[in-house]
Amino acid sequence: MEPALAELKGRLGEIVDLGRTQTLLHWDLEVCMPPAGADSRALQLATLSSVIHERSTDDRIGELLDELEPYAASLDPDSDDACLLRVARRDWEKARRVPTALMAELAETQARSYEAWVRAREDDDFASFRPWLERMLELRLRYAECFAPYDDPYDVLLDDYDEGLTTEHVRAVFDALAPELVALVAEHASDEDDPWRGPFPIPLQERLARELLEAMGVRWDEFRLDLAVHPFATSLGPGDIRLTSRYTEDDVLSLFTALHEGGHGLVEWGSSPTLDRTPLAGCRSSTLHESQSRLWENVVGRSLPFWRWFYPRLQEAFPTQLGGVSLEAFHRAINRARRSHIRVDADETTYGLHVVLRFELEQELVHGRLAVREVPDAWNTRFEELLGIPVPDDRHGVLQDAHWSGGSFGYFPTYLLGSVVSVQIWERAKAALGDVEEQIERGELGELHAWLRENLYALGSKFPPLETIERVVGGPIDPQPYLAYLREKLGALAAA
Ligand code: ZN
Repeated sequence: MEPALAELKGRLGEIVDLGRTQTLLHWDLEVCMPPAGADSRALQLATLSSVIHERSTDDRIGELLDELEPYAASLDPDSDDACLLRVARRDWEKARRVPTALMAELAETQARSYEAWVRAREDDDFASFRPWLERMLELRLRYAECFAPYDDPYDVLLDDYDEGLTTEHVRAVFDALAPELVALVAEHASDEDDPWRGPFPIPLQERLARELLEAMGVRWDEFRLDLAVHPFATSLGPGDIRLTSRYTEDDVLSLFTALHEGGHGLVEWGSSPTLDRTPLAGCRSSTLHESQSRLWENVVGRSLPFWRWFYPRLQEAFPTQLGGVSLEAFHRAINRARRSHIRVDADETTYGLHVVLRFELEQELVHGRLAVREVPDAWNTRFEELLGIPVPDDRHGVLQDAHWSGGSFGYFPTYLLGSVVSVQIWERAKAALGDVEEQIERGELGELHAWLRENLYALGSKFPPLETIERVVGGPIDPQPYLAYLREKLGALAAA
């Protein structure tokens, strides 16, 4: 190996190690830490963030990249090393734009703001969270300024979640989706009660969640499953994937959370071992990540073949709660469109409208057309226009999500883009595997997992997401297959 490449890989490997340490501190903050630990954790995260930033912006990385330019030009552009050198240069140039002090301030404020959000949500008290949201918005705008001149500050924020994704891309897809989703909800939304009656004991739900994850390919010597207020999945390395979930005794929807977070976990787990300890390890695109959580949760996990396989098992676990509920009634209840307030509990059809609302408000906040104090009113008005029901309080409105407490403006759109892309990828997998639905009906998820691993997960972050999507599905992000999928599903439920 070129000596300069060995030195560069050594430096990048240490940055990855430090990043994974930071990930562990975040995981601990959300899963284990007693609330009173928040202040010292905020300082630890700020210190680590400064160390990572200093290392990531070191002059020596730039020198090594310059030295390696002739070598990079000699490589196959699809090779691991060529991709590594491209991404390393991009990361270095991006990081150099942002002062270390700003990165530390962001990290420290994020941790404190998260705690403030947890309390504000519990107390339904937006006023106590408002100064934190104002602070996070200001910090993220200062961050965006580091990349001036830009076409749109929101593009800078999107780029952190999906390299190369712009406001224009998002708007093109959302403008096509929003009116169609509103029409689908108007045509199909129902207020029927759920056909089941709890309680569904939580230990049993957890056992079933673990069974489903095992069927997907999760192995407990390389994965964990824990509780968290806001479920998430994260990776600390190839043999250490952390999933979290939450449960309520009222229903068994925790199974979908498990499939969702399991999908995220498989993406990280499937990254090629040759990429480990480099910036290409795992998937850095939020849209692609979400395409996989949603493929497993919704496209596979809410399908009739899937429940033909697993519903007898579910009924066996909960005979009094579900014994009298037919497969068809259960399948209908987990798929029907229903107007509701909480994004993470929303069905597939209304879900997109929850995201469109957040995207629109973020646009207005970032462009200074909306002040933070006006956000609850704007939220409530716009929510009722899109979803057709009033918002009873901020807990069920503007305070429901953690994202803004961390300044993650630009993240929400990737959820809906992920849903759109999930259907594009599913269609490719179906074409390649032929009888995948029959396999699912037999509880065999292995071939699907293997296809996704080979064609998508193994790529890690070698290519920008829009290019990866092009490679996997043969075209750009296209909302039409997703709309066709929803229309077909809702049409079948209506006809049943
Ligand atoms: Zn997700």
